[in-house]
Amino acid sequence: MQVPFYKHDLDGSHAAAIAAVLNSPILTSGQVGRGVEAQLAAYFNVPHALLVNSWTNGAVACLLAMDIKPGDEVIVPAMTFVATANVVEQLGAKPVFADVDPATLLMTPQTVLPHVTARTRAIIPVHLYGLMVDIAALRAALGPSIRIIEDCAHCFEGELDGAKPGAHSDAAIFSFYATKNVTCGEGGAIITRDAELAKRLAATRLHGMSAGAIDRFRNARYNHWDVERLGVKANLPDLLSALLPGQIETIDARLPRREALANVYESGLRHLNGVQTQTGLTGARHARHLFTICVDGTLRDELIGRLNAAGIGCTVNYRSVPQLTYYRTKYGYERGRFPIAERWGDGTISLPFYPSMQRDGQEYVIDTIKREMRTLAAA
Ligand SMILES: *Cc1c(COP(=O)(O)O)cnc(C)c1O
Repeated sequence: MQVPFYKHDLDGSHAAAIAAVLNSPILTSGQVGRGVEAQLAAYFNVPHALLVNSWTNGAVACLLAMDIKPGDEVIVPAMTFVATANVVEQLGAKPVFADVDPATLLMTPQTVLPHVTARTRAIIPVHLYGLMVDIAALRAALGPSIRIIEDCAHCFEGELDGAKPGAHSDAAIFSFYATKNVTCGEGGAIITRDAELAKRLAATRLHGMSAGAIDRFRNARYNHWDVERLGVKANLPDLLSALLPGQIETIDARLPRREALANVYESGLRHLNGVQTQTGLTGARHARHLFTICVDGTLRDELIGRLNAAGIGCTVNYRSVPQLTYYRTKYGYERGRFPIAERWGDGTISLPFYPSMQRDGQEYVIDTIKREMRTLAAA
């Protein structure tokens, strides 16, 4: 049996939305994007939402808008996708890694506070796999002067204690990359409750310009623009924005499907000897972006090979970022510095997980893992 790691569920029904953009005068950022931004602001109950062309470029625009400079420190988790740290490097600032909680795999005040210094300007907590970091607790521990930027690449529809992303932070950034729960192939969004930050972001996501394309030609005449601060090219074209409204409308209705898939994996694998899953979900509505397990690090790559040989696609989210060559050599992180991220990073496997996945496919994955774990344990 072949079980791919991922299949998107967009179909031809989106073709009409793209055709409508083709028939409009503006292919890049225009009225369609404006509509999606209003939709996002309403969904998250925040005053400001700005579409961007990726999480990564959106985060760079956000750090520029916050005046993060060389010499500044930004705390990021050791267990995340490398982009979370890379964006800090791109600004010439220093990403300071913090380990994560062994049950939730998330940053907590306990894992973060030892890394706070006089140079700490911001922190980027990551809602790993869709489980939300307790942002209110981080805010209480860090005080008002350290900026909190939520990495919501895994968490659009998640909640913690009834609060959605954006409720307690300075900004929350989403990814609409091809495999994410809401996707337009490549894209993202930033939400914020801070009017001054939103104004700066409108410029830093587009070269630093004070007016976007539709505003430069307002009232059928040319309007001058200026640049007050440096920006990047991070605006999302309407051709891609057009894929989003239908997905945002149905995201809550689609979550139970992901929850049901996660429950099947949980009940099939939770009590298997030598297999660990993310736990500690009290008060959370988990967005169920990825389903990951962790096995002994000495068995992981062999198990992935055996799953692949059985026709099962899987991947690793993620190896501990400070152990990647660039960060290890630049900052001299020896092994053992981030024990939880390293142990999880050495042992984790992401299993096939997508809404159209069938029950027989999931049972095949569970049975194959059980069989291969038994033979690996006996070897
Ligand atoms: C996907 C991802 C990103 C980067 O998103 P892009 O839109 O591809 O730039 C950042 N952080 C995490 C945790 C991710 O999974």
